[in-house]
Amino acid sequence: MIKTYVSKMKVSNSTRAVAVLIFLVMQLFYFSSTKAQNANNMIIEFKNINNEKIKTAFMEVVERYETLHNFKIILKQKNIKSSTMQAQPIFNMESFTKGVKSYKVKLAVYVRDSDTLRVDSMPKDVLTGWFAHELGHIVDYAPYSTWQMLKYGIKYVTSKKFKKEAEHAADVIAVQHGFTSEIIAAKRFILENELMDQKYKDKITKYYMSIDDVLMCTEDKAVAQPATGL
Ligand SMILES: [Zn+2]
Repeated sequence: MIKTYVSKMKVSNSTRAVAVLIFLVMQLFYFSSTKAQNANNMIIEFKNINNEKIKTAFMEVVERYETLHNFKIILKQKNIKSSTMQAQPIFNMESFTKGVKSYKVKLAVYVRDSDTLRVDSMPKDVLTGWFAHELGHIVDYAPYSTWQMLKYGIKYVTSKKFKKEAEHAADVIAVQHGFTSEIIAAKRFILENELMDQKYKDKITKYYMSIDDVLMCTEDKAVAQPATGL
């Protein structure tokens, strides 16, 4: 009886040891998978956005821009007159010691210079292309330090040449991430739209990549290098 009991104890102890081992290994896998998940966890905050199409288009672009996965990105819809979208770094005291950790994309309710054309009425591919361009700006300046970003901002408003380079770089980044058709859809939507203000179309033609350039850059990877040098 005692013998049997002892051998049962032995079995039960070794079973317990194996169970503990399995549990520990599982924990190890659990933690490593949680960590991996966290590394790709995008922190996106929607403010004043109720439209599902806008949310989905935005998420699709951020998902494909891996550079942005380590940052917090806020998309906020509000009345802005000067543009349809604006991507900006969020500066605070920490930015100057640890670098910029979050960005804000402001989204107008109406397309620039229009009182009738609502952003949420735009087709999904147009919205996606527009976000791909706008978030392309963030990918472009994400490697910069806070001081370099301030310099970037100043050059953008003071140098037409730099502004053109920055706008081209955002398109190139979008193309490199597979958003060629969406970028073209967004450009067509602006340039071929009768409701769109002519001044806006002229600005797009002057500073942004033409549809032909986008196609050329898609075919020829060698020219597809974003080049916003500070
Ligand atoms: Zn732009």
